[in-house]
Amino acid sequence: MIIDAHIHIGKWSGIFFNYESNVEDAVKVMKKAGVEAAVCMPADNTSNDELFNEIKKFPDFKFYFNAWINPDDKSLDNFLKENLKHISLLKIHPSIQKRRITDISFEKYLRIAEENNKPVIVHCGRWQEIAGYSFALEAAEKYRKLNLILAHMGGDQPSIILNCAGEIKKRKLNNVYLGTESVREFYFVNEAVKMISPEKIIFGSDYNLGLPEMYIPVIDSLKINSSEKELIFSGNILRLMSELN
Ligand SMILES: [Zn+2]
Repeated sequence: MIIDAHIHIGKWSGIFFNYESNVEDAVKVMKKAGVEAAVCMPADNTSNDELFNEIKKFPDFKFYFNAWINPDDKSLDNFLKENLKHISLLKIHPSIQKRRITDISFEKYLRIAEENNKPVIVHCGRWQEIAGYSFALEAAEKYRKLNLILAHMGGDQPSIILNCAGEIKKRKLNNVYLGTESVREFYFVNEAVKMISPEKIIFGSDYNLGLPEMYIPVIDSLKINSSEKELIFSGNILRLMSELN
């Protein structure tokens, strides 16, 4: 079974030239790729509320909702309060929010996530001063009961990925996972898997920017057995989300 644990639906701001896609498109793309369920979050110019209501119109496909945490969003606290039961994960994007995950404005939300056993997906990128994996690891050390998924395997570049996996291993951070979205360099994904084990890797595509069909072969190519691949494709994310109850 394949779950795409990182997809966006909706409208992007100028960072992606106002590009947008809808739920219907997403369901078609997922089904075509053999993906049975998806963890979806809005793009940065679509509200949580809008996407949350839109996916309800597609009951024949399983969506898990991932709420976008923009601390400047005045409707956010109310949205979380009203819908927390139906929210599976929280998403933090330091580059778009232009502040580190360790910024004080995220603290309240990291506590909500920790107290309610909601995993947090944090975007990690090449902008080291703001979106570097080191801040995500700092947060993981501070919130020991919080499960943190580092998107793009910590930074979407082989050197960053290997350094990140090395740090996770060295610091024995059992609450840190690496999401494979948008990572193309299959050899280095395999190296990272060897360092921190398949139990810590979670498949995602970063649709509507990438396609699951682009990244499923990366996981298929790993030198691990089929039950370990199953963990990456769906077992790990399901385990993290089931800790909800
Ligand atoms: Zn993303």
